[in-house]
Amino acid sequence: MAIPTAMLKLSLRTHLRNLSRIGIPYAAHLQRQMSSEAILGRLKEKGLLRSQAFIAGKWVDAEDGTTLPVYNPATQELLANVACVGGKETKEAITSANNAFYSWSILTAAERSKILRKWYELLMAHKEELGQLMTLENGKPLKEGLGEVVYGASFVEFYAEEAKRVYGDIIPPPLGDRRLFVLKQPVGVVGAITPWNFPLAMITRKVAPALACGCTVVVKPSELTPLTALAAAELALQAGVPSGVLNVVMGNASQIGDTLLASSQVKKISFTGSTAVGKKLMAAAAGTVKKVSLELGGNAPCIIFDDANLEVAVKGTLAAKFRNAGQTCVCVNRILVQEGIYEKFAKLFSTAVQELRVGNGLEEGVLQGPLITHAAVQKVEKHIQDAVSKGAKLLVGGKQHNLGYTFYEPTVLGDANSSMLISREEVFGPVAPLFRFKTEDEAIQIANDTQFGLASYLFTENVSQAWRVAEALEYGLVGINEGIISTEVAPFGGVKESGVGREGSKYGIDEYLEVKYVCLGNMKP
Ligand code: ADP
Repeated sequence: MAIPTAMLKLSLRTHLRNLSRIGIPYAAHLQRQMSSEAILGRLKEKGLLRSQAFIAGKWVDAEDGTTLPVYNPATQELLANVACVGGKETKEAITSANNAFYSWSILTAAERSKILRKWYELLMAHKEELGQLMTLENGKPLKEGLGEVVYGASFVEFYAEEAKRVYGDIIPPPLGDRRLFVLKQPVGVVGAITPWNFPLAMITRKVAPALACGCTVVVKPSELTPLTALAAAELALQAGVPSGVLNVVMGNASQIGDTLLASSQVKKISFTGSTAVGKKLMAAAAGTVKKVSLELGGNAPCIIFDDANLEVAVKGTLAAKFRNAGQTCVCVNRILVQEGIYEKFAKLFSTAVQELRVGNGLEEGVLQGPLITHAAVQKVEKHIQDAVSKGAKLLVGGKQHNLGYTFYEPTVLGDANSSMLISREEVFGPVAPLFRFKTEDEAIQIANDTQFGLASYLFTENVSQAWRVAEALEYGLVGINEGIISTEVAPFGGVKESGVGREGSKYGIDEYLEVKYVCLGNMKP
Protein backbone atom coordinates (compact mmCIF):
# COMPACT_ATOMS: atom_id res chain seq x y z
CA MET A 1 0.00 0.00 0.00
CA ALA A 2 1.48 3.34 -1.00
CA ILE A 3 1.04 6.10 1.61
CA PRO A 4 -1.62 8.67 0.58
CA THR A 5 0.00 12.09 0.07
CA ALA A 6 -2.75 13.90 1.99
CA MET A 7 -2.14 11.69 5.03
CA LEU A 8 1.58 12.23 4.76
CA LYS A 9 1.15 16.02 4.70
CA LEU A 10 -1.14 15.93 7.67
CA SER A 11 1.13 13.74 9.70
CA LEU A 12 4.17 15.87 8.84
CA ARG A 13 2.39 19.03 9.90
CA THR A 14 1.16 17.52 13.14
CA HIS A 15 4.60 16.24 13.84
CA LEU A 16 6.25 19.59 13.13
CA ARG A 17 3.82 21.29 15.48
CA ASN A 18 4.72 18.78 18.17
CA LEU A 19 8.38 19.44 17.53
CA SER A 20 8.00 23.15 18.08
CA ARG A 21 6.29 22.36 21.38
CA ILE A 22 9.38 20.49 22.59
CA GLY A 23 11.64 23.33 21.49
CA ILE A 24 12.88 22.15 18.10
CA PRO A 25 12.61 25.18 15.77
CA TYR A 26 9.61 24.97 13.47
CA ALA A 27 10.83 27.26 10.68
CA ALA A 28 14.02 25.37 9.92
CA HIS A 29 12.14 22.12 9.70
CA LEU A 30 9.36 23.59 7.62
CA GLN A 31 11.91 24.64 5.02
CA ARG A 32 13.28 21.10 4.83
CA GLN A 33 9.84 19.61 4.92
CA MET A 34 9.19 20.94 1.44
CA SER A 35 12.02 19.04 -0.15
CA SER A 36 11.29 15.86 1.83
CA GLU A 37 7.72 16.00 0.65
CA ALA A 38 8.82 16.47 -2.93
CA ILE A 39 11.15 13.49 -2.66
CA LEU A 40 8.54 11.27 -1.05
CA GLY A 41 5.99 12.41 -3.65
CA ARG A 42 8.31 11.41 -6.48
CA LEU A 43 9.04 8.04 -4.88
CA LYS A 44 5.34 7.46 -4.46
CA GLU A 45 4.64 8.28 -8.10
CA LYS A 46 7.20 5.68 -9.14
CA GLY A 47 5.75 3.07 -6.79
CA LEU A 48 8.90 3.07 -4.67
CA LEU A 49 7.42 4.40 -1.45
CA ARG A 50 6.26 1.21 0.20
CA SER A 51 5.02 0.80 3.74
CA GLN A 52 3.92 -2.84 3.91
CA ALA A 53 5.87 -6.01 4.46
CA PHE A 54 6.72 -8.01 1.34
CA ILE A 55 5.73 -11.66 1.70
CA ALA A 56 5.21 -14.28 -1.02
CA GLY A 57 5.37 -11.60 -3.72
CA LYS A 58 2.64 -9.48 -2.09
CA TRP A 59 2.61 -6.26 -0.08
CA VAL A 60 0.88 -7.00 3.21
CA ASP A 61 -0.02 -5.23 6.46
CA ALA A 62 0.73 -6.60 9.89
CA GLU A 63 -2.07 -8.97 10.77
CA ASP A 64 -3.14 -6.86 13.74
CA GLY A 65 -2.73 -3.64 11.72
CA THR A 66 0.14 -2.35 13.86
CA THR A 67 2.49 0.16 12.28
CA LEU A 68 5.85 1.61 13.11
CA PRO A 69 6.87 5.25 12.50
CA VAL A 70 9.98 6.04 10.45
CA TYR A 71 11.56 9.43 11.15
CA ASN A 72 14.07 11.63 9.37
CA PRO A 73 17.00 11.87 11.83
CA ALA A 74 17.92 15.35 10.57
CA THR A 75 14.53 16.94 11.12
CA GLN A 76 12.61 14.42 13.24
CA GLU A 77 9.78 14.60 10.72
CA LEU A 78 7.68 11.52 10.23
CA LEU A 79 8.44 9.94 6.87
CA ALA A 80 6.08 6.98 6.96
CA ASN A 81 4.30 4.45 9.10
CA VAL A 82 5.33 0.96 8.06
CA ALA A 83 3.81 -2.41 8.88
CA CYS A 84 5.10 -3.67 12.21
CA VAL A 85 5.09 -7.45 11.91
CA GLY A 86 5.95 -10.18 14.38
CA GLY A 87 6.38 -13.92 14.57
CA LYS A 88 3.27 -14.93 12.65
CA GLU A 89 4.08 -12.95 9.51
CA THR A 90 7.70 -14.03 9.75
CA LYS A 91 6.58 -17.66 9.72
CA GLU A 92 4.58 -16.93 6.55
CA ALA A 93 7.63 -15.32 4.98
CA ILE A 94 9.74 -18.38 5.86
CA THR A 95 7.10 -20.71 4.40
CA SER A 96 6.96 -18.68 1.20
CA ALA A 97 10.77 -18.71 0.91
CA ASN A 98 10.78 -22.45 1.58
CA ASN A 99 8.10 -23.08 -1.03
CA ALA A 100 9.95 -20.99 -3.60
CA PHE A 101 13.32 -22.61 -2.95
CA TYR A 102 13.11 -25.67 -5.19
CA SER A 103 11.96 -23.92 -8.35
CA TRP A 104 14.45 -21.07 -7.88
CA SER A 105 17.36 -23.39 -7.16
CA ILE A 106 16.79 -25.53 -10.26
CA LEU A 107 16.86 -22.56 -12.64
CA THR A 108 20.08 -22.45 -14.59
CA ALA A 109 22.70 -20.04 -13.29
CA ALA A 110 22.23 -18.04 -16.49
CA GLU A 111 18.51 -17.64 -15.79
CA ARG A 112 19.10 -16.38 -12.25
CA SER A 113 21.91 -14.19 -13.50
CA LYS A 114 19.61 -12.47 -16.01
CA ILE A 115 17.10 -11.55 -13.29
CA LEU A 116 19.82 -10.23 -10.98
CA ARG A 117 21.30 -8.20 -13.83
CA LYS A 118 17.88 -6.64 -14.41
CA TRP A 119 17.60 -5.82 -10.69
CA TYR A 120 21.02 -4.15 -10.85
CA GLU A 121 19.94 -2.06 -13.84
CA LEU A 122 16.73 -0.97 -12.08
CA LEU A 123 18.64 -0.01 -8.91
CA MET A 124 21.01 2.10 -11.00
CA ALA A 125 18.16 3.62 -13.02
CA HIS A 126 16.62 4.80 -9.73
CA LYS A 127 19.88 5.96 -8.20
CA GLU A 128 18.65 9.50 -7.52
CA GLU A 129 15.44 8.47 -5.77
CA LEU A 130 17.10 5.74 -3.72
CA GLY A 131 19.97 8.03 -2.71
CA GLN A 132 17.53 10.71 -1.60
CA LEU A 133 15.41 8.20 0.29
CA MET A 134 18.50 7.00 2.10
CA THR A 135 19.41 10.55 3.08
CA LEU A 136 15.88 11.07 4.37
CA GLU A 137 15.76 7.98 6.57
CA ASN A 138 19.43 7.60 7.51
CA GLY A 139 20.66 11.21 7.44
CA LYS A 140 23.84 10.62 5.45
CA PRO A 141 24.88 13.39 3.03
CA LEU A 142 23.23 12.94 -0.36
CA LYS A 143 26.59 12.36 -2.03
CA GLU A 144 27.15 9.41 0.31
CA GLY A 145 23.59 8.20 -0.28
CA LEU A 146 24.14 8.22 -4.04
CA GLY A 147 27.50 6.54 -3.51
CA GLU A 148 25.82 3.81 -1.48
CA VAL A 149 23.33 3.10 -4.27
CA VAL A 150 26.24 2.49 -6.66
CA TYR A 151 28.08 0.43 -4.02
CA GLY A 152 24.96 -1.53 -3.08
CA ALA A 153 24.04 -2.19 -6.70
CA SER A 154 27.60 -3.31 -7.47
CA PHE A 155 27.04 -6.47 -5.36
CA VAL A 156 24.01 -7.32 -7.45
CA GLU A 157 25.98 -6.87 -10.68
CA PHE A 158 28.98 -8.81 -9.33
CA TYR A 159 26.92 -11.78 -8.15
CA ALA A 160 24.84 -11.79 -11.35
CA GLU A 161 28.18 -12.62 -12.97
CA GLU A 162 29.45 -14.87 -10.19
CA ALA A 163 26.28 -17.01 -10.36
CA LYS A 164 27.80 -18.63 -13.44
CA ARG A 165 31.06 -19.52 -11.68
CA VAL A 166 29.94 -21.73 -8.81
CA TYR A 167 32.38 -24.49 -9.70
CA GLY A 168 32.72 -27.84 -7.95
CA ASP A 169 35.75 -30.15 -8.07
CA ILE A 170 36.85 -33.53 -9.37
CA ILE A 171 39.31 -35.17 -6.98
CA PRO A 172 41.89 -37.76 -8.15
CA PRO A 173 40.62 -40.96 -6.46
CA PRO A 174 42.75 -43.01 -4.04
CA LEU A 175 41.27 -46.25 -5.49
CA GLY A 176 41.13 -47.07 -9.22
CA ASP A 177 37.47 -48.10 -9.30
CA ARG A 178 36.24 -44.86 -7.75
CA ARG A 179 35.52 -41.33 -8.98
CA LEU A 180 35.22 -38.46 -6.48
CA PHE A 181 33.25 -35.29 -7.08
CA VAL A 182 32.51 -32.15 -5.08
CA LEU A 183 29.21 -30.37 -5.75
CA LYS A 184 28.33 -26.93 -4.45
CA GLN A 185 24.63 -26.53 -3.66
CA PRO A 186 22.57 -23.68 -2.22
CA VAL A 187 21.97 -23.96 1.54
CA GLY A 188 18.24 -23.19 1.29
CA VAL A 189 16.26 -20.46 3.05
CA VAL A 190 18.40 -17.62 4.40
CA GLY A 191 17.48 -15.13 7.14
CA ALA A 192 19.26 -11.81 6.59
CA ILE A 193 19.21 -9.25 9.41
CA THR A 194 20.64 -5.83 8.59
CA PRO A 195 21.40 -2.49 10.30
CA TRP A 196 20.51 1.14 9.56
CA ASN A 197 23.93 2.54 8.66
CA PHE A 198 23.93 1.18 5.09
CA PRO A 199 20.23 0.72 4.36
CA LEU A 200 20.83 -0.71 0.87
CA ALA A 201 24.35 -2.15 0.67
CA MET A 202 24.07 -4.36 3.75
CA ILE A 203 21.04 -5.98 2.13
CA THR A 204 22.42 -6.47 -1.38
CA ARG A 205 25.69 -7.81 0.03
CA LYS A 206 23.71 -10.71 1.50
CA VAL A 207 20.77 -11.09 -0.87
CA ALA A 208 22.69 -10.94 -4.16
CA PRO A 209 25.07 -13.89 -3.48
CA ALA A 210 22.25 -15.86 -1.83
CA LEU A 211 19.92 -15.43 -4.82
CA ALA A 212 22.74 -15.95 -7.30
CA CYS A 213 23.47 -19.47 -6.10
CA GLY A 214 19.82 -20.50 -5.71
CA CYS A 215 18.89 -19.65 -2.10
CA THR A 216 15.73 -17.79 -1.13
CA VAL A 217 15.73 -15.07 1.51
CA VAL A 218 13.76 -13.44 4.32
CA VAL A 219 15.26 -10.00 4.97
CA LYS A 220 14.74 -8.07 8.19
CA PRO A 221 15.99 -4.51 7.68
CA SER A 222 16.49 -2.13 10.57
CA GLU A 223 13.27 -0.59 11.83
CA LEU A 224 15.04 2.79 11.60
CA THR A 225 15.58 2.51 7.83
CA PRO A 226 13.10 0.08 6.25
CA LEU A 227 12.01 2.34 3.37
CA THR A 228 15.13 1.80 1.24
CA ALA A 229 14.84 -1.96 1.76
CA LEU A 230 11.21 -1.91 0.65
CA ALA A 231 12.02 0.19 -2.42
CA ALA A 232 14.78 -2.28 -3.32
CA ALA A 233 12.31 -5.16 -2.94
CA GLU A 234 9.86 -3.38 -5.24
CA LEU A 235 12.62 -3.12 -7.86
CA ALA A 236 13.47 -6.81 -7.37
CA LEU A 237 9.81 -7.60 -8.06
CA GLN A 238 9.92 -5.46 -11.21
CA ALA A 239 13.12 -7.26 -12.25
CA GLY A 240 11.30 -10.59 -12.20
CA VAL A 241 12.43 -12.11 -8.91
CA PRO A 242 9.68 -14.75 -8.45
CA SER A 243 7.20 -14.71 -5.56
CA GLY A 244 8.66 -15.95 -2.29
CA VAL A 245 12.28 -15.79 -3.42
CA LEU A 246 12.78 -12.47 -1.63
CA ASN A 247 10.67 -11.45 1.39
CA VAL A 248 11.01 -8.38 3.62
CA VAL A 249 9.65 -8.18 7.18
CA MET A 250 10.21 -5.48 9.79
CA GLY A 251 8.68 -4.68 13.13
CA ASN A 252 9.29 -6.54 16.36
CA ALA A 253 13.00 -7.33 16.01
CA SER A 254 13.26 -9.97 18.71
CA GLN A 255 10.09 -11.79 17.61
CA ILE A 256 11.24 -11.79 13.99
CA GLY A 257 14.72 -12.88 15.04
CA ASP A 258 13.45 -15.63 17.35
CA THR A 259 11.16 -16.98 14.62
CA LEU A 260 13.95 -17.04 12.04
CA LEU A 261 16.34 -18.67 14.48
CA ALA A 262 13.88 -21.28 15.72
CA SER A 263 12.76 -22.40 12.26
CA SER A 264 14.32 -25.58 10.97
CA GLN A 265 13.46 -24.41 7.46
CA VAL A 266 15.92 -21.51 7.77
CA LYS A 267 19.33 -22.97 7.06
CA LYS A 268 21.49 -19.88 7.33
CA ILE A 269 21.52 -16.59 9.22
CA SER A 270 23.52 -13.67 7.92
CA PHE A 271 23.65 -10.75 10.33
CA THR A 272 25.24 -7.32 10.33
CA GLY A 273 24.94 -5.28 13.50
CA SER A 274 26.13 -4.99 17.06
CA THR A 275 28.37 -7.56 18.72
CA ALA A 276 25.86 -7.98 21.55
CA VAL A 277 22.99 -8.97 19.24
CA GLY A 278 25.32 -11.02 17.02
CA LYS A 279 26.39 -13.15 19.99
CA LYS A 280 22.76 -13.78 20.93
CA LEU A 281 21.91 -14.85 17.39
CA MET A 282 24.96 -17.10 17.18
CA ALA A 283 23.96 -18.83 20.40
CA ALA A 284 20.35 -19.22 19.23
CA ALA A 285 21.49 -20.61 15.85
CA ALA A 286 22.99 -23.53 17.75
CA GLY A 287 19.46 -24.82 18.45
CA THR A 288 19.06 -25.96 14.83
CA VAL A 289 22.79 -25.86 13.93
CA LYS A 290 22.44 -23.18 11.28
CA LYS A 291 25.28 -21.78 9.27
CA VAL A 292 25.99 -18.22 10.45
CA SER A 293 27.78 -15.21 9.03
CA LEU A 294 28.26 -12.28 11.37
CA GLU A 295 29.56 -8.79 10.60
CA LEU A 296 29.82 -7.19 14.04
CA GLY A 297 31.43 -4.22 15.73
CA GLY A 298 34.98 -3.01 15.31
CA ASN A 299 37.56 -0.88 17.07
CA ALA A 300 39.57 0.15 14.05
CA PRO A 301 43.09 1.46 14.57
CA CYS A 302 44.70 3.83 12.09
CA ILE A 303 48.49 3.97 12.45
CA ILE A 304 50.35 7.01 11.12
CA PHE A 305 54.10 6.39 10.97
CA ASP A 306 56.73 9.16 11.03
CA ASP A 307 57.51 8.77 7.33
CA ALA A 308 53.86 8.85 6.17
CA ASN A 309 52.88 11.21 3.38
CA LEU A 310 51.02 13.70 5.57
CA GLU A 311 48.60 14.86 2.91
CA VAL A 312 47.61 11.28 2.07
CA ALA A 313 47.41 10.36 5.78
CA VAL A 314 45.17 13.31 6.69
CA LYS A 315 42.86 12.75 3.73
CA GLY A 316 42.65 8.98 4.28
CA THR A 317 42.10 9.23 8.03
CA LEU A 318 39.45 11.92 7.57
CA ALA A 319 37.51 9.73 5.13
CA ALA A 320 37.91 6.60 7.27
CA LYS A 321 36.77 8.43 10.42
CA PHE A 322 34.00 10.81 9.37
CA ARG A 323 32.17 8.89 6.64
CA ASN A 324 28.50 8.53 7.62
CA ALA A 325 29.29 10.75 10.64
CA GLY A 326 31.54 8.02 12.02
CA GLN A 327 28.72 5.48 12.01
CA THR A 328 30.21 2.53 10.15
CA CYS A 329 31.80 -0.60 11.58
CA VAL A 330 34.96 0.13 9.58
CA CYS A 331 35.24 3.74 10.80
CA VAL A 332 38.52 4.54 12.52
CA ASN A 333 38.09 4.44 16.30
CA ARG A 334 41.72 5.05 17.38
CA ILE A 335 44.31 7.13 15.54
CA LEU A 336 47.80 6.08 16.61
CA VAL A 337 50.40 8.68 15.61
CA GLN A 338 54.18 8.21 15.89
CA GLU A 339 55.76 10.83 18.14
CA GLY A 340 57.95 12.44 15.45
CA ILE A 341 54.96 13.43 13.34
CA TYR A 342 52.32 13.75 16.07
CA GLU A 343 52.19 17.57 16.40
CA LYS A 344 52.21 18.18 12.65
CA PHE A 345 49.54 15.56 11.99
CA ALA A 346 47.35 16.81 14.86
CA LYS A 347 47.45 20.34 13.47
CA LEU A 348 46.70 19.44 9.85
CA PHE A 349 44.05 16.89 10.79
CA SER A 350 42.31 19.31 13.16
CA THR A 351 42.21 21.97 10.45
CA ALA A 352 40.66 19.50 8.01
CA VAL A 353 38.06 18.41 10.60
CA GLN A 354 37.10 22.01 11.32
CA GLU A 355 36.22 22.41 7.67
CA LEU A 356 33.66 19.57 7.64
CA ARG A 357 30.30 21.21 7.08
CA VAL A 358 27.54 19.82 9.27
CA GLY A 359 23.87 19.93 8.30
CA ASN A 360 20.92 18.25 6.69
CA GLY A 361 22.32 15.76 4.19
CA LEU A 362 20.04 17.12 1.47
CA GLU A 363 21.78 20.49 1.57
CA GLU A 364 24.51 21.18 -0.95
CA GLY A 365 28.04 20.97 0.45
CA VAL A 366 27.12 19.19 3.70
CA LEU A 367 29.79 16.61 4.59
CA GLN A 368 28.40 15.41 7.89
CA GLY A 369 24.75 14.72 8.60
CA PRO A 370 23.03 13.98 11.90
CA LEU A 371 23.59 10.90 14.02
CA ILE A 372 20.87 8.30 13.69
CA THR A 373 19.22 9.00 17.08
CA HIS A 374 19.62 11.23 20.09
CA ALA A 375 20.82 8.17 22.02
CA ALA A 376 23.79 8.00 19.63
CA VAL A 377 24.63 11.61 20.53
CA GLN A 378 24.47 10.74 24.22
CA LYS A 379 26.91 7.87 23.67
CA VAL A 380 29.34 10.23 21.92
CA GLU A 381 29.04 12.69 24.82
CA LYS A 382 29.72 9.93 27.33
CA HIS A 383 32.91 8.92 25.48
CA ILE A 384 34.15 12.50 25.25
CA GLN A 385 33.45 13.27 28.91
CA ASP A 386 35.23 10.09 29.95
CA ALA A 387 38.27 10.87 27.75
CA VAL A 388 38.55 14.49 28.91
CA SER A 389 38.22 13.44 32.55
CA LYS A 390 41.19 11.09 31.99
CA GLY A 391 43.45 13.72 30.42
CA ALA A 392 42.46 14.01 26.74
CA LYS A 393 42.66 17.49 25.22
CA LEU A 394 39.82 18.83 23.11
CA LEU A 395 41.44 20.00 19.86
CA VAL A 396 38.25 20.51 17.82
CA GLY A 397 34.51 20.35 18.58
CA GLY A 398 33.40 18.52 21.72
CA LYS A 399 29.79 19.57 21.99
CA GLN A 400 26.37 19.24 20.39
CA HIS A 401 26.13 21.16 17.15
CA ASN A 402 23.90 24.22 17.25
CA LEU A 403 21.52 22.42 14.87
CA GLY A 404 20.72 20.45 18.00
CA TYR A 405 19.17 17.11 18.94
CA THR A 406 20.89 14.60 16.61
CA PHE A 407 23.72 16.83 15.38
CA TYR A 408 27.18 16.70 16.92
CA GLU A 409 30.28 18.72 16.13
CA PRO A 410 33.08 16.77 14.41
CA THR A 411 35.53 16.32 17.27
CA VAL A 412 39.27 15.69 17.65
CA LEU A 413 40.77 14.62 20.99
CA GLY A 414 44.53 14.84 21.61
CA ASP A 415 46.61 12.79 24.09
CA ALA A 416 44.19 9.88 24.31
CA ASN A 417 45.34 6.82 26.25
CA SER A 418 44.39 3.23 26.92
CA SER A 419 42.54 3.98 30.15
CA MET A 420 39.78 5.71 28.19
CA LEU A 421 36.49 4.12 27.18
CA ILE A 422 37.09 5.20 23.60
CA SER A 423 40.18 2.99 23.37
CA ARG A 424 38.07 -0.10 24.06
CA GLU A 425 34.55 0.63 22.77
CA GLU A 426 33.39 1.66 19.32
CA VAL A 427 32.21 5.28 19.61
CA PHE A 428 30.14 5.09 16.39
CA GLY A 429 30.15 8.86 16.01
CA PRO A 430 32.24 11.82 14.81
CA VAL A 431 35.00 11.65 17.43
CA ALA A 432 38.66 11.17 16.47
CA PRO A 433 41.02 10.43 19.38
CA LEU A 434 44.79 10.74 18.76
CA PHE A 435 47.14 8.39 20.66
CA ARG A 436 50.96 8.78 20.64
CA PHE A 437 53.36 5.88 20.13
CA LYS A 438 57.15 5.50 19.79
CA THR A 439 57.97 2.25 17.96
CA GLU A 440 56.45 -0.06 15.36
CA ASP A 441 56.18 -2.87 17.93
CA GLU A 442 54.34 -0.59 20.33
CA ALA A 443 51.90 0.48 17.58
CA ILE A 444 51.13 -3.15 16.71
CA GLN A 445 50.67 -4.03 20.37
CA ILE A 446 48.23 -1.14 20.94
CA ALA A 447 46.37 -1.83 17.68
CA ASN A 448 45.84 -5.51 18.54
CA ASP A 449 44.92 -4.86 22.17
CA THR A 450 41.18 -5.28 21.64
CA GLN A 451 38.69 -8.12 21.29
CA PHE A 452 37.67 -6.70 17.91
CA GLY A 453 39.31 -7.29 14.54
CA LEU A 454 37.44 -5.83 11.58
CA ALA A 455 39.16 -2.91 9.80
CA SER A 456 42.60 -1.41 10.33
CA TYR A 457 44.57 1.25 8.49
CA LEU A 458 48.19 2.32 8.31
CA PHE A 459 50.06 5.12 6.60
CA THR A 460 53.76 4.80 5.76
CA GLU A 461 56.00 5.29 2.73
CA ASN A 462 58.17 2.33 3.79
CA VAL A 463 57.08 -0.75 1.82
CA SER A 464 58.76 -3.25 4.14
CA GLN A 465 57.15 -1.66 7.17
CA ALA A 466 53.77 -1.64 5.40
CA TRP A 467 53.96 -5.43 4.81
CA ARG A 468 55.36 -6.23 8.25
CA VAL A 469 52.59 -4.32 9.99
CA ALA A 470 49.81 -5.54 7.66
CA GLU A 471 50.82 -9.13 8.45
CA ALA A 472 50.98 -8.48 12.20
CA LEU A 473 47.60 -6.76 12.50
CA GLU A 474 44.90 -9.12 13.80
CA TYR A 475 42.21 -7.74 11.52
CA GLY A 476 40.13 -8.96 8.59
CA LEU A 477 40.82 -5.81 6.55
CA VAL A 478 43.93 -3.67 6.25
CA GLY A 479 44.06 -0.39 4.33
CA ILE A 480 47.59 0.78 3.50
CA ASN A 481 47.75 4.49 2.60
CA GLU A 482 44.02 4.38 1.91
CA GLY A 483 40.99 5.15 4.08
CA ILE A 484 38.11 3.79 1.96
CA ILE A 485 38.77 0.20 0.94
CA SER A 486 35.40 -1.57 0.70
CA THR A 487 34.51 -2.90 -2.73
CA GLU A 488 32.31 -5.70 -4.04
CA VAL A 489 35.33 -7.50 -5.53
CA ALA A 490 37.22 -7.94 -2.21
CA PRO A 491 36.31 -10.04 0.84
CA PHE A 492 34.88 -8.05 3.76
CA GLY A 493 34.72 -9.48 7.26
CA GLY A 494 36.28 -9.61 10.68
CA VAL A 495 38.27 -11.84 13.01
CA LYS A 496 38.02 -12.22 16.81
CA GLU A 497 34.71 -10.80 18.12
CA SER A 498 34.14 -8.79 14.95
CA GLY A 499 32.53 -11.76 13.31
CA VAL A 500 32.71 -14.83 11.14
CA GLY A 501 32.40 -15.20 7.39
CA ARG A 502 33.12 -12.90 4.47
CA GLU A 503 30.92 -10.79 2.21
CA GLY A 504 31.65 -9.68 -1.33
CA SER A 505 34.13 -11.22 -3.81
CA LYS A 506 34.31 -14.89 -4.81
CA TYR A 507 34.47 -15.80 -1.09
CA GLY A 508 31.11 -14.17 -0.31
CA ILE A 509 29.07 -16.70 -2.26
CA ASP A 510 30.59 -19.65 -0.35
CA GLU A 511 28.63 -18.50 2.72
CA TYR A 512 25.42 -19.59 0.94
CA LEU A 513 26.68 -22.91 -0.42
CA GLU A 514 27.00 -26.39 0.99
CA VAL A 515 29.80 -28.63 -0.19
CA LYS A 516 28.62 -32.10 -1.12
CA TYR A 517 31.06 -34.97 -1.70
CA VAL A 518 29.86 -37.62 -4.17
CA CYS A 519 31.72 -40.92 -4.47
CA LEU A 520 31.07 -43.20 -7.43
CA GLY A 521 32.39 -46.68 -6.51
CA ASN A 522 32.74 -50.19 -7.90
CA MET A 523 33.28 -48.97 -11.45
CA LYS A 524 33.70 -51.79 -13.93
CA PRO A 525 37.08 -51.91 -15.67
P1 ADP B 1 22.70 -1.27 15.66
O1 ADP B 1 23.35 -0.74 16.88
O2 ADP B 1 23.48 -1.17 14.41
O3 ADP B 1 21.27 -0.87 15.51
P2 ADP B 1 21.71 -3.86 16.35
O4 ADP B 1 22.51 -5.09 16.52
O5 ADP B 1 20.91 -3.38 17.49
O6 ADP B 1 22.76 -2.82 15.87
O7 ADP B 1 20.73 -3.98 15.12
C1 ADP B 1 21.07 -4.58 13.90
C2 ADP B 1 19.87 -5.33 13.37
O8 ADP B 1 19.55 -6.36 14.29
C3 ADP B 1 18.62 -4.47 13.24
O9 ADP B 1 17.88 -4.90 12.12
C4 ADP B 1 17.87 -4.79 14.52
O10 ADP B 1 16.48 -4.58 14.43
C5 ADP B 1 18.18 -6.27 14.64
N1 ADP B 1 17.99 -6.82 15.99
C6 ADP B 1 18.16 -6.22 17.17
N2 ADP B 1 17.87 -7.08 18.18
C7 ADP B 1 17.53 -8.27 17.60
C8 ADP B 1 17.14 -9.55 18.07
N3 ADP B 1 17.04 -9.82 19.37
N4 ADP B 1 16.88 -10.52 17.16
C9 ADP B 1 16.99 -10.28 15.85
N5 ADP B 1 17.34 -9.09 15.33
C10 ADP B 1 17.62 -8.09 16.19
